[in-house]
Amino acid sequence: MRRKLVAGNWKMHGTRALVGGLLEELKPMVATASCEVLVCPPFVFLEQAEGLVRDTAIALGAQDLATDVMGAYTGEVSGGMLREFGCRYVLVGHSERRSLYGESDELVARKCLAALNAGLTPIVCVGETLAERDGGETLSVVFRQLQAVLALVGVAGLSQAVIAYEPVWAIGTGRTATPEQAQEVHAALRGFIAKADAELAEKIRILYGGSVKADNAAELFAQVDIDGGLIGGASLSATDFAAICAAAG
Ligand code: PEP
Repeated sequence: MRRKLVAGNWKMHGTRALVGGLLEELKPMVATASCEVLVCPPFVFLEQAEGLVRDTAIALGAQDLATDVMGAYTGEVSGGMLREFGCRYVLVGHSERRSLYGESDELVARKCLAALNAGLTPIVCVGETLAERDGGETLSVVFRQLQAVLALVGVAGLSQAVIAYEPVWAIGTGRTATPEQAQEVHAALRGFIAKADAELAEKIRILYGGSVKADNAAELFAQVDIDGGLIGGASLSATDFAAICAAAG
């Protein structure tokens, strides 16, 4: 039985006041959630967030990490540093990192390996653009993205990861994949993993992300191969995010 995970990606949003207010409001709302609850604030708020979520039902994660452990890499943050600030999870290969910062499949795979080496659980994001979907390339794109990770970290590494299917055309657009569209890709991803390891395919969690809201979450999460969600915009409202967590229960 895969326990559902609902992860909030705050992206580059927040102030000290917002982080404090949002987490204080969220804590009691998700205290008895049956799904796992995760928030991923910007790096600079991790220390504040760590203090606020300690001994609560809310886990902490980051939105990105460096491929290296330490050294002359100006602006980078390593997995070890994230661990020191209480992170258990880290997003890798979010479509904004791929499209805006040129992250290739190979770089995403290296980040996944760096996360594993640091003892973090990588949430590996895959997903197709609208042009790729319209061109009938959805599955070849997500398989290619996943294969790059699998080739580097192997079945053992992937077994410590979570996958997030996020169709790029659904992120921040208000246009959600239908439950059937999402389920089709999730099932295909599981089938792809089964070719490498059938047991892992059954065990690995595959989240859906892309305009998940309180009013569409339950239907998405009811699909057999959808194990929770990666939530952007709606994770900035405690009420909305808690309602999505409840939908995962
Ligand atoms: C995301 O950023 O991963 C995301 C899914 O965003 P949104 O929920 O706003 O579409």
